[in-house]
Amino acid sequence: MVEKREKRRNIPAPIQAALWALSNGRCYAPDCPFPVIFEVRPGVYKKNAQIAHIYGVQPGSARHRPCHTPEEEQKRDSFRDLILLCPAHHAKVDDKKTGADLYPLELLFE
Ligand SMILES: [Zn+2]
Repeated sequence: MVEKREKRRNIPAPIQAALWALSNGRCYAPDCPFPVIFEVRPGVYKKNAQIAHIYGVQPGSARHRPCHTPEEEQKRDSFRDLILLCPAHHAKVDDKKTGADLYPLELLFE
């Protein structure tokens, strides 16, 4: 049986703001050198980070935990269960083959 794809919800603006503010301008991965914002040319800035779910949203994704109620979905999208990562670390953390082993829940919550 194939699990149905889960709907991805927008993260509320205050939670997004908190994630960006607490990043201190850096990807959450320890020792990652990448800033969350790049100045691409004088005065023009581009985001260089993505909000990542600790519990993968889609069936088969790393650390996926199915949500059966709106409350469970809300918890999955809560500040505590989200991190801010540069695109390279987001890809590594969410990798379907190695993400769950290389980045277990305990490490991500830390
Ligand atoms: Zn990074």
